[in-house]
Amino acid sequence: MTQKFDVVVIGAGPGGYVAAIKAAQLGLTTACIEKYTDAEGKQALGGTCLNVGCIPSKALLDSSWKYKEAKESFSVHGISTGDVKMDVPAMVGRKANIVKNLTGGVATLFKARTGSMTAARSPPSP
Ligand SMILES: Cc1cc2nc3c(=O)[nH]c(=O)nc-3n(C[C@H](O)[C@H](O)[C@H](O)COP(=O)(O)OP(=O)(O)OC[C@H]3O[C@@H](n4cnc5c(N)ncnc54)[C@H](O)[C@@H]3O)c2cc1C
Repeated sequence: MTQKFDVVVIGAGPGGYVAAIKAAQLGLTTACIEKYTDAEGKQALGGTCLNVGCIPSKALLDSSWKYKEAKESFSVHGISTGDVKMDVPAMVGRKANIVKNLTGGVATLFKARTGSMTAARSPPSP
């Protein structure tokens, strides 16, 4: 089946999804094509920033900073803790949930424009 659009945006990162949503808001039939899939093999919107860049790196930095504070800085405040341990799978799980919520938020924004906007998945590169 052939479908025609006024605008086709390649890539659903911060540049692409904002451009696609704006085009749809202006009344143009819009498709946004994204090739990235998450660990479950599902299409994930949000590009480098939401999936592997800004958001996951800051989520992990936040966790590691809290670990460092608990281990090294709490005592100056008169706060004593037991043996502070790092649970890496829990830390990574928290990061994954944050990413899932935010990429899901972009998908919700796309769905809100149903009728004028389509998120398509491009075939994997050879
Ligand atoms: C580790 C890391 C940390 C970062 N931290 C920050 C930060 O704290 N603050 C900040 O401002 N910036 C940060 N950045 C930079 C930020 O991620 C980028 O500036 C931003 O993602 C660029 O957005 P974009 O839409 O141009 O490209 P991208 O987010 O890269 O999106 C491009 C999308 O196009 C898709 N695509 C490419 N080719 C095709 C194709 N042929 N068909 C279909 N889809 C395609 C890709 O899969 C991708 O999803 C960080 C980057 C990294 C790697």
